[in-house]
Amino acid sequence: MNGVKVVVVGAGVVGFSSAVCIAEALPGCSVTLVADRFSPDTTSDVAAGILLTLDFPDVPLERQKRWFQDGFDELLPIAQSQHSSEAGVLLTSGCQIFKEAPANKTPYWSDIVLGFRLLSERELKRFPHHTFGQAFTTIKCECNNYLPWLLNRFQKAGGQVQRTKVTDLRELGLRYDIIVNCSGLGSRSLAGDAQVYPVRGQVLQVEAPWLQHFIRDADGDTYIYPGARYVTLGGGRQRGDERPMPDPGESDAILERCCRLEPSLRNSRPVGVVVGLRPGRKHPRVEREVVHMNQHRSVHVVHNYGHGGWGVSLAWGTAVDALKLIKKCLQDTPLPAKL
Ligand code: FAD
Repeated sequence: MNGVKVVVVGAGVVGFSSAVCIAEALPGCSVTLVADRFSPDTTSDVAAGILLTLDFPDVPLERQKRWFQDGFDELLPIAQSQHSSEAGVLLTSGCQIFKEAPANKTPYWSDIVLGFRLLSERELKRFPHHTFGQAFTTIKCECNNYLPWLLNRFQKAGGQVQRTKVTDLRELGLRYDIIVNCSGLGSRSLAGDAQVYPVRGQVLQVEAPWLQHFIRDADGDTYIYPGARYVTLGGGRQRGDERPMPDPGESDAILERCCRLEPSLRNSRPVGVVVGLRPGRKHPRVEREVVHMNQHRSVHVVHNYGHGGWGVSLAWGTAVDALKLIKKCLQDTPLPAKL
């Protein structure tokens, strides 16, 4: 595989996780990452970055579990090391609460996060509109720090970075042997995938240093996530909405909902409001295809996009899968080095 040229499109958490995974595992390949937006201007930078996930009905449970497990196993040693604050990867404890108990009280990720247990009656009294809850310790991965940290790790592994907009993946096929498509929402046009859609999310950042534990309403519309520098208050998911600017009415509604769960937030100090467009899809697409450029030349494309609201949680796991697909490409069709 010496001399094989790999290009990764996308500088969000999925692109950088894939690029690092490939560059570290295949030192004989040259790996270049290209993107038109880098941290702090990606959707990944907006994410609260809590490691948690939902079931994707069309993906085998064993595969989803591996995605989550691989990410947790990768990030836990970082969270427990001296690199934690520089990398923006920290342990966080708290609870997820439900208005009605779910059918499955112990989700598949319950034995991956730490210390999973159900909330007691006494603990639930704090949330009079909720009847069921789960307490656990998970990881918070803050991409404002994590992406620059991954960039550094990628460059140490010999990776190159270029800022450029790609208008057609086939253009890259003239210069590279394998294209790894991690362009998130950009895959609507780059991969011509009509199943990809934006899901707008707005979050508030507030100072409330007395809050140490996260609270997430399982409906996904309200959450309070304390982090290293501020507390993130969310959320909201507006499918098909591409408005990039914060909506003041929505900020008021988020704060109101969060104050109902945690009244002391009325004393918090606002720091910022940010908006991101999640790359929605029925499930992440992690698969390979061969794209024909012309009669004489084809190029391998490994897709890794469409992580919706859980890209930070699943990025490392799907990057590991993308690496396996790249190894298959290399085995199936050894590619000649080009001039
Ligand atoms: P992005 O971060 O959008 O990166 C896409 C990259 O592709 C960018 O660099 C872009 O420039 C590049 N690109 C696209 N098209 C082109 C092109 N044509 N040419 C060149 N480059 C291109 N996830 C969690 O796991 N936990 C959470 O707690 C969480 N909270 C969230 C809260 C909010 C409010 C939002 C909005 C999202 C949240 N998410 C969370 C989801 C998470 O942010 C996304 O799933 C994740 O960021 C997707 O990463 P990505 O790398 O695929 O996309």
